[in-house]
Amino acid sequence: MKITKVNVHMLQKTLETSMCISRGGFKVRNHAIIEIETDQGITGLGEGIGNAAYIQGIIEAKMGELSIGLDPRNIEDVRRALLDNQVYFERMGSAICAASAIEMACWDIKAKALNVPLYELLGGLSRDKIEAYASNIYWEEDISAMTQCAEDILSKGIKSVKAHIGFKDAKTDLKRVAALRETIGPDINLMIDLNAGYTFTEALKACELWGKYNLFWLEEPLSPYKSSRLPELKSHTDIPIALGENEFRTYGFKDLFEAGAVDVAMPDIGRVGGIWEAKLVCEMAESFGVQVSPHNYSSGVLLAATLHLMAATPYSNLLEYDASDNSIYHEFFPEPLAFVDGKLPVPQRPGLGVELTDQILEKYKV
Ligand SMILES: [Mg+2]
Repeated sequence: MKITKVNVHMLQKTLETSMCISRGGFKVRNHAIIEIETDQGITGLGEGIGNAAYIQGIIEAKMGELSIGLDPRNIEDVRRALLDNQVYFERMGSAICAASAIEMACWDIKAKALNVPLYELLGGLSRDKIEAYASNIYWEEDISAMTQCAEDILSKGIKSVKAHIGFKDAKTDLKRVAALRETIGPDINLMIDLNAGYTFTEALKACELWGKYNLFWLEEPLSPYKSSRLPELKSHTDIPIALGENEFRTYGFKDLFEAGAVDVAMPDIGRVGGIWEAKLVCEMAESFGVQVSPHNYSSGVLLAATLHLMAATPYSNLLEYDASDNSIYHEFFPEPLAFVDGKLPVPQRPGLGVELTDQILEKYKV
């Protein structure tokens, strides 16, 4: 089997509300969805996570062409061609995201060719439903809007919630942490995502002030450029530190694990180097005794890939899920995504189990 064409579909969704994180607000989400064609008529879907326009440019300028003629079933050959050889001086960034998307689509094709759900090729079905946490509470001036969002999430049966705060300083945002904890009660897991928006000093203050609210984890307290100071930050707090959505390849995670910089690793399949790279990061995390909760914040294509990975990786824990209507999720799945007791079922169709329909393209393609 040979790859004959790599198409990039840019999907865009204008959001109902502004989603504000420590780095500011955004009103539009863009997705670079990759569709690979083969000489045997089987197609596969993938998604690169990062700047969608850069990923599109890299694939259309060169990486798509480099993929033509490769056998999508030979994943290691695809990895060598796209992740190693051709990105000699592109160890991180959009080139790796673009290669991740193509690798993901190759797995979709391989599993379809073998007529099995993808998880069968990643270790088998260790569990058919994955417990989720909702990550769609965003910073708001009006704190009651944040607590209302938390209540809406809990009403769906989800038992862990993550809030993006840190748009203001740690002392000001203390009241947001306190209000959320009071709303959800003591038994619901509360995670806080700082999206790398604080300095070391401010992050340290956040750990001191917010620690009494029993946080399940504090995510990306520092910029990835300041990772060398994470062990120092960790030495001052009992709050588990989560990060990894901005890390690339096993090499990046190995450095973090060896430094003792992270308690919860969050590789993103569409960014870290693809499905196999994410699986390797999960296995390496286990060997270091580091928890794993893959980053999953994009379209239904990444969601499906993450479900398959987690289904076949029992060590991983808690699926990130966007419980708002801002994601292009449900349209990708032929059967509705139905929560059962806070858990999402793993797709059972061959491949990833997602479809890029004409309706999706008509509605979202730009
Ligand atoms: Mg995050």
